[in-house]
Amino acid sequence: MPRVSSSHHTERLGVHAVAKKVHEDLRWIFRPQDEDFGIDAQIEVVVDYVPTGRLIGAQIKSGPSYFNEEDSNGIVFRGALSHLDYWLQHDLPIIVILYDPSSQIAYWQHVTPKRVTRLAEGWKMWIPRQQKLEAVQAPTLETIAARNEYFRAVASEFTCPHCGAALLERAGGDIDYESYACGYLVQDTCQRPCPFDPAFPKYEEYTLEFHECGSGPEKTWLCIPIPATSAAKRLRLSPATGKTKEEAEQVARAEYARCRTKRRPRR
Ligand SMILES: [Zn+2]
Repeated sequence: MPRVSSSHHTERLGVHAVAKKVHEDLRWIFRPQDEDFGIDAQIEVVVDYVPTGRLIGAQIKSGPSYFNEEDSNGIVFRGALSHLDYWLQHDLPIIVILYDPSSQIAYWQHVTPKRVTRLAEGWKMWIPRQQKLEAVQAPTLETIAARNEYFRAVASEFTCPHCGAALLERAGGDIDYESYACGYLVQDTCQRPCPFDPAFPKYEEYTLEFHECGSGPEKTWLCIPIPATSAAKRLRLSPATGKTKEEAEQVARAEYARCRTKRRPRR
């Protein structure tokens, strides 16, 4: 017959106690991990009843054996190197939570390279006693969960502000020149708006001016789209030519449609 060890109970008790604290004290979301490779749960920050999509991975340890090395200021946590390397390269910020069943207190610490001491076998990290998993710690934990915002801020510097398309070229120094894969073009001022920009001008925002050039069989028509609104001034359409007035107008409309084409889906 299979046997259920007391350490199994202690471990599960820790996960449930932490889940309760996350729901009751922090009022955040607690998702136990089905496939656990050293992360027992994902904790999602909730602000004003709204889930934020900002996550923290948590490894939960429970029982008196984790409190062997402690003093009034904190506890020394020791772990295996295989877990540490997994955590440090993980996309989510990872915290270790130690649950003490006797006092029903859960202590946490954020695993970062600076906090970790690598040893010949395994590694250790200091977990301060004031870092209890409770409502008062929510802002600190929220800051940790927000870590990836830094990467998003960096990425946004190299993508179109309207649709997220990649930056193709940017001039250095004082010259104002930026060109994006979606067609958004800045040269001193905006020369061609992003096709996803809600302020992209409509074709109706141009007044069409027609000119007849030459005479007889050589006669051509010129269609000049003149911007009639400030939005239209951001998209200069080049003059179009055709054998007939209609043809010239069609060429101008096709040029507008080309600029308007959405080249990549909005992310
Ligand atoms: Zn764009």
